[in-house]
Parts: sequence; C-alpha cells; structure tokens
Amino acid sequence: MCWDHARYVKNTSRPYDEMAREMARKKAIGIETVIVYMAEVINLDVYCKAAAENGIAVQAWITPKIWISNPVTRFLPEAKWLEMEKRHGIRLSSPCPNHPHNRQSMIANTMKLAEEYAGRVEAIHLDAIRTENALLTRDFPCECEACRALRKRFLGYEILSEDDLKNPGIIYKELDLKNSSISEIVQAVKAIADKNNLRLTMAGRANYLNQPDIEKAPVWGLGPAVMEGQDWVKWSDNGWVDEIYTMNYHTDKTLFTRVLNEHIRLLRGSGAGFYSGIGVESSMGKNQPEQVAEYIQKVKALGLNGCVFFNKTDVFEPEYEAVIKASRE
Ligand SMILES: [Zn+2]
Repeated sequence: MCWDHARYVKNTSRPYDEMAREMARKKAIGIETVIVYMAEVINLDVYCKAAAENGIAVQAWITPKIWISNPVTRFLPEAKWLEMEKRHGIRLSSPCPNHPHNRQSMIANTMKLAEEYAGRVEAIHLDAIRTENALLTRDFPCECEACRALRKRFLGYEILSEDDLKNPGIIYKELDLKNSSISEIVQAVKAIADKNNLRLTMAGRANYLNQPDIEKAPVWGLGPAVMEGQDWVKWSDNGWVDEIYTMNYHTDKTLFTRVLNEHIRLLRGSGAGFYSGIGVESSMGKNQPEQVAEYIQKVKALGLNGCVFFNKTDVFEPEYEAVIKASRE
C-alpha cells in the first residue's frame, strides 16, 4: 500500500491519463492499495476509475484539517501565539476537537463521502485524527469558547495558569476531554463506514506513549499519541478502527526496529489489523533504497500483514520501484 497525494498530475483539467499511467506503474511493482489525499486528488471520480481499471483499491484519506467546513480553529491570545513561536518556531492552529461544530461537520462530510463513493473506495482513512502536536498543546492549551466552557464546568474558571499545567488532576481532565472528543468522531465515522460496507483505517502516531521521539523542527514530536487525543491502542481494543498504519518513518535503523517491535507488542491480541508505515521520504528525512529494502524484510520476517509507504513526492524513483518489486517476488 502507499499514501498518495496525486501531486504528479500536471494536466489538471484532464487528469485520467496521468493517473492511469501512475496506477499501472504502482500495480507493476506490487502496490495493491492507494490511500488518496482528498485535499489534492483533483477529481476522485476519475482517480477511482483509473485505479479500478488497473486493479488497485482506493482508500479516501481525510484529516480534520481538510474535512471540516468552516472550522473553529484553536484560539490563543496573541501574546501566547508569540510565545509559542518564540519557543518552538511555529504557530499551529488546527480545528479544536472539543468544539462541537468541528465534530458535527467532520461527521456530516464523511457521511456524504461514504454514501457517494461506497463501492468505488474500499475504506475511509483517518489521518492526523488528533489535536496538534503534544509539544504545542502541552504548554499552550486551547482557549476557544468550547474549551473555556468545559473548564468553567470542571474547574470553575476558564483559563489555565502555569501551576495548573503541572497539576496531575487537571492534566488528566484536559487529556480525557480531548480523548473523548476525538473518540466521538472516530466512533461516528466507524458507524458510517460499517453502514456503507467500508472499512475504517487510520494513520497512527509513531510515538504511542513512551517511544523515542524527535522534538526538533520540522517534526515537532511524533506524539505521544495519548497526549494528542489519539489512543490508537484503545481504539483497536474497542473495535473502533479496522486497520492501523503506524507512521514509523525513522531513518535511524535502530529506532525503526525498536518502534516497530513496540507497535507489535501494543497491538498483539488487539482487534485492528496492523500494517507498518515505512518512510521513503517524509519530514523525518529520506531512507535510501537499500534501507527501505531492509525495513521491508524486517516487516516480512515478523509476519506482518504488509506495509504502507509514505513518499512525499508520490512517484517512486526507479531504485525504489526495484526494491518494492523485488520484495514481492
Ligand atoms: Zn478549544
């Protein structure tokens, strides 16, 4: 499998030929499923047709950032945005999952997608189904109207102080509210998928809880998933997702193996099917073809279902095509 932004299409008014050509290339090296990014696909009807004619299955890849109409993004006073920028070199303002409008819109838009494309896509794929990076939300909790109202109920006031951010009871409640809000979306999407005979798959953060992390730019942390409202182990245990593709894009072989083994341990005996992500090129860097070959062999040797490639350029260079093809023989 591979994630696909379909960025290779140049003739955007008539994308079929380029899409079909790329599908044929992918099929020839043994890719069976493409997970297409709904924000960039240009024309999903044409994409599905090109895939079907080449015997490739399609999953529709959505994220809260692209799948909420008129999103309520998280709110901070300007002084806190500036502080975040100073400390981390970035300001991120994704939709706040605690805001009911965002949940309702994400669910409604997914229902439309499922009803229109069931049969042409085989699955809904949830990516970045979480709050912003733990690193940024830990020090700068959202102050939108919904978050303030929740705090008013549970704490008696709306804005957290520096001391509050160190109080275990408050930290627990903040995480619990986030996890509940995002779990609500996941469960609703799962019900929509079931109703339309689709599977629900997801991209899981590489750092579930206590795994090695990279906090430097441009990664800003690989989780921990549980601090971002994305408890994918719990979701798997509860049957809320059908398959989990972990984003193990490490370029350091020792880290890749360590994280892979941890994911296997976490999901052993759990409900969801597990496929390991492998980074060809991501924000974590590029893995050379021989390294990708080694990673695929590890995944095979461990008896996993398969792997999912992430490649930000979408088109595999010939050296990578050769490696993927060889692994299928
Ligand atoms: Zn909020």
